[in-house]
Amino acid sequence: MTQDELFKVLVAHCKEYGFIFPSSEIYDGLAAVYDYGQMGVELKNNIKQYWWNAMTRLNENIVGIDSCIFMHPRIWEASGHVGAFNDPLIDNKDSKKRYRADVLIEDFLAKIEEKMNKEVEKGRKRFGEAFDEAQFRATNPNVLREQAKYDEVHNRYKKAEDANDLAEYRQIIVDNNIVCPISGTCNWTDVRQFNLMFSTSMGSTAEGANTIYLRPETAQGIFVNYLNVQKTGRMKIPFGIAQIGKAFRNEIVARQFIFRMREFEQMEMQFFIKPGTELEWFKKWKEQRMKWHVNIGMGAENYRFHDHEKLAHYANAATDIEFQFPFGFKELEGIHSRTNWDLGRHQQYSGRKIEYFDPEEGAAYTPYVVETSIGVDRMVLAVLSHSYKEEKLENGETRVVLSIPAPLAPVKAAVLPLVKKDGLPELAQKVMDDLKYDFNCQYEEKDSIGKRYRRQDAIGTPFCITVDHQSLEDGCVTVRERDTMSQERVKIEDLRALIDKRVNLNNLLRNL
Ligand code: ATP
Repeated sequence: MTQDELFKVLVAHCKEYGFIFPSSEIYDGLAAVYDYGQMGVELKNNIKQYWWNAMTRLNENIVGIDSCIFMHPRIWEASGHVGAFNDPLIDNKDSKKRYRADVLIEDFLAKIEEKMNKEVEKGRKRFGEAFDEAQFRATNPNVLREQAKYDEVHNRYKKAEDANDLAEYRQIIVDNNIVCPISGTCNWTDVRQFNLMFSTSMGSTAEGANTIYLRPETAQGIFVNYLNVQKTGRMKIPFGIAQIGKAFRNEIVARQFIFRMREFEQMEMQFFIKPGTELEWFKKWKEQRMKWHVNIGMGAENYRFHDHEKLAHYANAATDIEFQFPFGFKELEGIHSRTNWDLGRHQQYSGRKIEYFDPEEGAAYTPYVVETSIGVDRMVLAVLSHSYKEEKLENGETRVVLSIPAPLAPVKAAVLPLVKKDGLPELAQKVMDDLKYDFNCQYEEKDSIGKRYRRQDAIGTPFCITVDHQSLEDGCVTVRERDTMSQERVKIEDLRALIDKRVNLNNLLRNL
């Protein structure tokens, strides 16, 4: 199966098993908006809990808040979003499809890179052990030709980006014959800027109504509450404020399932520090956040940093943590050193002094900020795409299994009476009643035990507990483990400890 096909299968699987549904589906859906079903919401909540506890419990100097989606419109002027939260859009005149001009160029560059990598792989196969990749890249004519093309387009693109030169974006697209994937033509409109914020009005009468925005990020809710939290919490610098909440962006190109949505959720933490210490903290948070990811157990090789060459005007360092999604390495989280830009701007726009009196320095200053910002939905997609497996079994059958890291799995254990009679359902219910206070469990008695195992594999349940006739006599049950499919007899009173060892979120947190 190609990665493309695998992605399609995953999207269908998410719907079939109650993880993710297209929003408003009975009305044919709403583009780039998705709902979480009964399984999806559990997975999402577990991810949020892992993040929240890692931030607020493991760090005594980080506290959480929950600010509103609606905020004073001046906030978005101060933050720069009204003026500059734009994407360059371009339309194809034949297909009438809209694209992000920067994404068209980046995809074109990625294709050249892919071609070069394919040549390198061919070379590796041909030369075997003696293969020297650096030398091959420096001498192979095909690679050199592609590299020259890459450099030329990349340089032009970076210059256009720096100068915000929209006409040059279009020219790069035309000169390289980058076509619309739908119409196949190069018949493009000019490139225009498009603001990504959704607006609505507040107030009961149309005349008195104020235009307000749905927040495009949760961070500003933290900045405008900086003084409140610092004072009431008697926080001393360095300290952080964490928040999980919805954000809204009118994305131009919203494909790739829950990777790019118009309504999504962010987990952001703003860490307030003394000016001059920001690069040290930036480095610490980079390490800390990568550790949080790798600790989940989805393979360190599937993550990488992508340091930004071009920095936003307010940042003095920035990096992305990228994850290997089915469509390649893409941004999962951003870590930014934002200087005192945001607090400074709010000070200027609100007229309120936003400073910290540092008793050690004996002076007041506007704190600097290092932020970590991750999309909950992208994290859900990372977990699901990494976990989905189709395995060939010895008997020739295929089983679909979601090997979701156990502490994040929606259902931790399924309790299954072998048959629906002879007192087995009653004993199984007792087991269920005992476990349900500690773990999210499912009770199932319909269909053969094999079918029930398959259904639990498909939603990623780490343990299946089968109650059989012998259980009535010896008080033992069969525990089947999801990944190895191994089975063992376990005393009912030992079940809780056995499950807890694998699924308790605290075990993950203890490794951080
Ligand atoms: P991208 O370049 O992919 O548009 P971004 O750089 O604009 O992302 P940030 O503004 O840094 O993203 O937002 C922080 C995080 O929020 C991202 O790393 C991502 O996980 C998440 N995020 C941003 N936009 C979306 C979206 N439209 N849908 C889902 N998650 C998103």
